[in-house]
Amino acid sequence: MKKYVYFFGNGRAEGRAEMKGLLGGKGANLAEMTNIKLPVPAGFTISTEVCTYYYASKRTYPRTLRNEVKTALRKVESAMGTKFGDPKNPLLVSVRSGARASMPGMMDTILNLGLSDRVAAGLVKKTGNPRFVYDSYRRFVQMYGDVVLGLKPVHKDEIDPFEVIIEEKKKSRGVHLDTDLTAEDMLDLVVRFKAAIKEKTGHSFPEDPLEQLWGAVGAVFGSWNNDRAIAYRKMYDIPESWGTAVNIQSMVFGNMGEDSGTGVAFTRDAATGENLFYGEYLMNAQGEDVVAGTRTPLPISHLAEQNPKIYGQLDKIRKTLEKHYRDMMDIEFTIQQGKLYMLQCRVGKRTAFAAIKIAVDMVAEKLISDKEALSRIEPDQLNQLLRPVFDLKEKEGAIKEGRLLAKGLNAGPGAASGRVVFNAPDAEEWKRRGEAVILTRIETSPEDIKGMDAAEGILTARGGMTSHAALVARQMGKVCVAGCSALEIDYTTHTMRANGKVINEGDWISIDGTTGEVLQGKVATKASEVLQVLIDRTLDPKQAPIYQEYAKVMVWADKYRRLKIRTNADQPDQATNAIAFGAEGIGLCRTEHMFFGEGKIGPMREMILADTEEDRKRALAKLLPLQRADFEGIFEAMNGRPVTIRTIDPPLHEFVPHEEPAQRQLAAQMGISYEKVRQRVEGLHEFNPMLGFRGCRLGIIFPEITEMQSRAIFEAAANVKSRGIKVEPEVMIPLVGNIKELAHQEKIVRRVASEVMAEKKVKFNYLVGTMIEIPRGALTADEIATVAEFFSFGTNDLTQTTLGVSRDDAGRFLIPYVEKEIYPKDPFEVLDRVGVGSLMKIAIEKGRTVRPTLKVGICGEHGGDPSSVEFCHQINQNYVSCSPFRVPIARLAAARAALSDTAAPSKAAKSVKAKTKKRRGGKRS
Ligand code: PEP
Ligand code: MG
Repeated sequence: MKKYVYFFGNGRAEGRAEMKGLLGGKGANLAEMTNIKLPVPAGFTISTEVCTYYYASKRTYPRTLRNEVKTALRKVESAMGTKFGDPKNPLLVSVRSGARASMPGMMDTILNLGLSDRVAAGLVKKTGNPRFVYDSYRRFVQMYGDVVLGLKPVHKDEIDPFEVIIEEKKKSRGVHLDTDLTAEDMLDLVVRFKAAIKEKTGHSFPEDPLEQLWGAVGAVFGSWNNDRAIAYRKMYDIPESWGTAVNIQSMVFGNMGEDSGTGVAFTRDAATGENLFYGEYLMNAQGEDVVAGTRTPLPISHLAEQNPKIYGQLDKIRKTLEKHYRDMMDIEFTIQQGKLYMLQCRVGKRTAFAAIKIAVDMVAEKLISDKEALSRIEPDQLNQLLRPVFDLKEKEGAIKEGRLLAKGLNAGPGAASGRVVFNAPDAEEWKRRGEAVILTRIETSPEDIKGMDAAEGILTARGGMTSHAALVARQMGKVCVAGCSALEIDYTTHTMRANGKVINEGDWISIDGTTGEVLQGKVATKASEVLQVLIDRTLDPKQAPIYQEYAKVMVWADKYRRLKIRTNADQPDQATNAIAFGAEGIGLCRTEHMFFGEGKIGPMREMILADTEEDRKRALAKLLPLQRADFEGIFEAMNGRPVTIRTIDPPLHEFVPHEEPAQRQLAAQMGISYEKVRQRVEGLHEFNPMLGFRGCRLGIIFPEITEMQSRAIFEAAANVKSRGIKVEPEVMIPLVGNIKELAHQEKIVRRVASEVMAEKKVKFNYLVGTMIEIPRGALTADEIATVAEFFSFGTNDLTQTTLGVSRDDAGRFLIPYVEKEIYPKDPFEVLDRVGVGSLMKIAIEKGRTVRPTLKVGICGEHGGDPSSVEFCHQINQNYVSCSPFRVPIARLAAARAALSDTAAPSKAAKSVKAKTKKRRGGKRS
């Protein structure tokens, strides 16, 4: 018989940390904590397989589940010495979701389940604490009413209906805080809540605890498919098929008086990574109070003074957990009448800064190896390190001008400016209009997830460092200032007041997530520490601790990666930046970008519009010295590293003016009539230019263009080499689908190379290769590789041509396609491994059968995407090429791909590597 329910309690658990797939993260870790003898209240986990069954079977459960749950409940009762539904000695439970990957707040939770009028009355007798009992009861009815029975706000500006009732009650009693309400007030709230549920939803509140339990279990499984969980899964690539587990655990109470409390903590600082115990707690409160941000909690360091014994126990648990899990953990605990209980632990979410610092520190502490450190830093997180910070002078100036509005908690580091919006749907809509927005909320909730994603930054008036806003912002890598209590936010008028000023929706503000400052208006930003060291060279690396950590990670990445990393650059300054980021060569120099530079577009247009070969050659002669100077700049900047230069690729109409005044100007410049220019431009019109007269087709019809470009490349190479600088030019022919196209162009390139070497009396090595960017090129790679010395996958075009999806016109349907999961991700961003990837595999395999030393790279946008880099590694490419700012990301992604290789590199790849080294003295990628 299949097992669906896993018990934990009394120091023994049926599950383990490794069983996350089956028990979800929460369930697996509760089991693990129980096994390592931490104080965990007894409970059981209903496995994720039940979730799968539930959705596959019209929301019903496996036949044997009820009995298994009953048996597990009995075990919990005996472990806790209480009984479910027994008014004299009741067991109350929490019912929580728990997916394999943590999805903070996205699914539903119910606490204090098992309370009814009868049980509550009995519990009052047992505890002699009516306030605690009725506070717990009203929380339960509120959560159950919302989650299971569906009483919640319907409109974005609407306040939670239960909160409305609480506010009315507080008003009528003349008190401000929830804690000022009496036991009778709480009981009255229970009655009002139940009445509101009945009136607005038609459902009666169930008094039978088992009925409550199954209602809650169904709601939690149901919440796997609520909108926010779906949106979250999409954002973080969590497959729908994983499902959630449901954890049912004996309640312990942090709201039993001043000797009780609850808190959440990180074993290290999740924002900066510093090795100190970081967390928050509230006395006389339940867990939701801390994370929901409705009351601002106290820092955990305060607990050391308030209750040194409990603090000591917690600190010991912190160390035990870090040693056991060898990672920074996020914990939830409750103190019930002076006794400490652990309710959750999981690997803690952290900012990129913290991820890097913790990984580097843990290697130094010998907790983890450098390989593990790499596996814990997501390549995309490096983006955060490169993001701008506020210019200090500008910020000080703004503060002097009195523009400091308030100061909150520095929950998500970085600097952001944007227009204020007060709810998540507005944030999304404004973003769609191209506006930068700061989502400003009293507090955020899981419903706000898409708006948070759309915002440049997030600002909240309530909640601590572990509030929803802070947690989610950190994970998203968003700038966030939380708990900024000086802000008076009014959702109905869409305004906020702070420091005597009124800020309206649409006004600019700036938030500093590193210091917590909120400023009126825009504040200029400047380069991050890493950029100040590497690019601006304005900061001494010794004075830059974040840079030093970054540099260590990069050294480790370089130690393990097999792929070389190149960059796409066509200007010397881009090349220099890329080298600073660790690029080992240029994988794509788009020569056509150079034609838009100073003084070049004129002769280029003359060349395009020339009537005769004579005229065309005359215009090309003007371009030659300009291109040569460009290439010299690039070769010098690359200082001996390989440089792949692509011959002209785009359709010619992209270079000519389409407006009358510019056409008239061009006509005057060329000494021909406007009408003639107009006609020629019209003649270049194509219905489908991306599949038209472009790529190598241009060089075949106008060989003099290839001739000029080859001459510019090789003369530049000869000149630079004469100056004592090594050069490694690689000429790349685009859009080849037929060996004859490549052979035609290769002949010109090689002839010109020989001519230049003879003329300049300088010898240099060079390669001739091709882009593989149309399917015929991939499918006939064994023919093409007889000529091509290297392949570079142009996956922008290869995606376009393989999918038959225009790279320029796909926006309208690709986003809905991804939403409908037709493609898991935009295939122009993340490589379509199944389709495009198959062609790449075929091309490599066929190419290397005729030329085992064939060098293979990628230069489409995918070259900087971590998942695509992983694929390139898996199919034994030699290098990836990406934009300069993505080079560090590609380095890390390549290392992680190498480390997650279960199989050693195939024999073929090894022999290619060895041969390539031999032939070129091991110098080239
Ligand atoms: C490509 O097609 O992937 C490529 C790099 O070339 P371009 O984007 O210039 O067409
Ligand atoms: Mg292309």
